Amino acid sequence: MTKYIFVTGGVLSALGKGIAASSMGMLLESHGYQITLQKFDPYLNVDPGTMNPFQHGEVYVTDDGAETDLDLGHYERFTSTCTTQSHNWTAGKIYEFILQKERKGEYLGKTVQVIPHVTDEIRKAFRTVSDQNDIVIGEIGGTVGDIEGQPFLEAIRQMRLALGVQNTLFVHLTLVPFIKTSGELKTKPTQHSVRELRAIGIQPDILLCRTDRFLGKNIRSKISLFTNVPLDAVITAKDVENIYEIPLVFAQQGLDNIILKQMNLSPRRRRLSRWKSMVKRMKSPQDEVNIALIGKYAGLHDSYISLIQALVHAGTAHRLKVNVSWIEAEQLEEEPPEEVLKGIDGILVPGGFGSRGIEGKIQATTYAREHKLPFFGLCLGMQCAAVEYARNISGFPGANSTEFDPSTPYKIFFKWRELKGVQDLGGTMRLGQYKCQLERNSLAEKAYRKQTVFERHRHRFEFNPQYEKPLKDSGLIISGKNPQYGLVEIVEIPNHPWFLGCQFHPEFKSKPLQPHPLFKSFIGASYAYRCQKNKNHSSS
Ligand code: GLN
Repeated sequence: MTKYIFVTGGVLSALGKGIAASSMGMLLESHGYQITLQKFDPYLNVDPGTMNPFQHGEVYVTDDGAETDLDLGHYERFTSTCTTQSHNWTAGKIYEFILQKERKGEYLGKTVQVIPHVTDEIRKAFRTVSDQNDIVIGEIGGTVGDIEGQPFLEAIRQMRLALGVQNTLFVHLTLVPFIKTSGELKTKPTQHSVRELRAIGIQPDILLCRTDRFLGKNIRSKISLFTNVPLDAVITAKDVENIYEIPLVFAQQGLDNIILKQMNLSPRRRRLSRWKSMVKRMKSPQDEVNIALIGKYAGLHDSYISLIQALVHAGTAHRLKVNVSWIEAEQLEEEPPEEVLKGIDGILVPGGFGSRGIEGKIQATTYAREHKLPFFGLCLGMQCAAVEYARNISGFPGANSTEFDPSTPYKIFFKWRELKGVQDLGGTMRLGQYKCQLERNSLAEKAYRKQTVFERHRHRFEFNPQYEKPLKDSGLIISGKNPQYGLVEIVEIPNHPWFLGCQFHPEFKSKPLQPHPLFKSFIGASYAYRCQKNKNHSSS
């Protein structure tokens, strides 16, 4: 029978519930248990696909094309779980389903209510991923006390009643702040937060206390007394400089064994050595490399979380620290690129939507092409690469994507599906995993070391097949194509050490123990560029 761990949060958001849940998943998996993680978001949007990434953070895309909360990215990076549509539920999605049923008359005239109808659907949602898993970790978004989160907390309370103490576990993440002026750690926010949980009938079994230092026995005893949580289950979730250290901080305090004991599962030989050595490598780089991200930022770096992690993973593979310079694309529309990009060893143009900053991104692309600076374009970045090539090499002045200039004379990217009436790609976006066939001897094939790969997409515009021949004739290398639709997925240019744009988002598949081949290859090339630059500098 599948067992459930419910992770709730208290005091304030952004304490790292997703990473805490992922870390527990990682530890349980290291004992050989089959686990998965699920996220429940109490907001009313059906999914985060249409939410502003600068407010909500990155939209993470799964193999099956779900647009989900960024925590699912952590789940996949920390564990071997492969998330799907069924791994992210919002109140909006649950209500949408209930209201559709209600309109069809499926409730047979009954009054449709939060309890039991909404809570029943939430409970069913947990079961959608239970198959073949020993343990499902369900993370409830928001903080205890939020009005919209109540049906979710009620549902997990009912699940304990239905499934029993040994099959369910309540883990609560809370804050123990250190007040500088008085030089004290404060337990009151934790006491209040647990009281709030207990008022709705949930007694936490384990507390993860987010704090900046290890909590001594005295303070843990105090928390234990006030919250009714056994002393050994009051765990310090100490701030660390590297998120991948968190499972190790938990393991040090025996969190995995506490969980297994409470759930009546036998501990097995824990295998953490690969993870430990990865963290060690990550924390002891031997050199560094400077990568410029040319985008639109509005301050929230969470909208590029998978991308940053993919760079970190690739850096670790080469024992390098990757320094990221966040460059506003619009800056390149006003200032000369050699100034803005001074000291940069590689340029990355990430995915994005809308025309603001496009010309700046294209400027950066031209600069990378002409100066033989490694260039990596993701999705919108690949579109910039092909448009730049069309304009400046193939002889199509004013070439563009119709997203940025609907009246361009040369439509290099356009809404191909609308024109073709291809329905089975779902909605207006191409979402999720698609096959990509690689060209022999291309940079892509050398990086992946295989000929067929599967990567995740999230975009509306496609390379216009009409321009495939003229761009190829002028030298552009089309090194990856989707065999089913014939769509262009990867472009490269000749006579350049590393210049590649891909229509998909490889960052969604990079893991700390399995860095993505394209990122790894790009960072390697950027470092080679840096070494060459330093060599030229010292010999001149
Ligand atoms: N805006 C572009 C499109 O929709 C690129 C999307 C992206 O970068 N994810 O095709």
